[in-house]
Amino acid sequence: MRGSGLSSGTETDGKDQYVISGKEVVRMLTCTECRNFFPLQENPQKGDCVQRVVDPRQAYYKAKPVDAERDASQCPGFQKKN
Ligand code: SF4
Repeated sequence: MRGSGLSSGTETDGKDQYVISGKEVVRMLTCTECRNFFPLQENPQKGDCVQRVVDPRQAYYKAKPVDAERDASQCPGFQKKN
């Protein structure tokens, strides 16, 4: 048979290897990094998005529940925490 005397290929010592190649790890902006995010004390994975709204007659705050890990990259209200 052909290949006699040929020793090629990869030898392993029995351990599994996980190689992540060609994979770019991009960190996503989340509400946690926004100044408008106020985490709940009992569950910091959730919180309120509190934003100041100014209209011609008055200024007020509006709040809505959000998840801490929500994607903030497309949010027009995002303000980076200092
Ligand atoms: S303004 Fe946008 S990014 Fe900031 S907490 Fe609210 S929803 Fe999240």
